[in-house]
Amino acid sequence: MTDRPFEWQAVDGGLHAIPNTTHRPYPPLPGADFTTLCGLEVVLAPEDFRRDRLRPMCRDCHGKWRAHQDQGRTKR
Ligand SMILES: [Zn+2]
Repeated sequence: MTDRPFEWQAVDGGLHAIPNTTHRPYPPLPGADFTTLCGLEVVLAPEDFRRDRLRPMCRDCHGKWRAHQDQGRTKR
């Protein structure tokens, strides 16, 4: 079990949060499709796995992830 419901994945030119439960094993492979936390429907491309450049973190994903974590805390 993990306390991280999402993982960061480089896709579509940025770092987006993807659901942790729908893609095992992690990391997902090129060709995997999923919906990011910010609502983008994406398919991973081989270029997304190159580590030769920095990608900006998606602000929308980051904000929603934080909100999700805060919700989890208040429910306990
Ligand atoms: Zn995003």
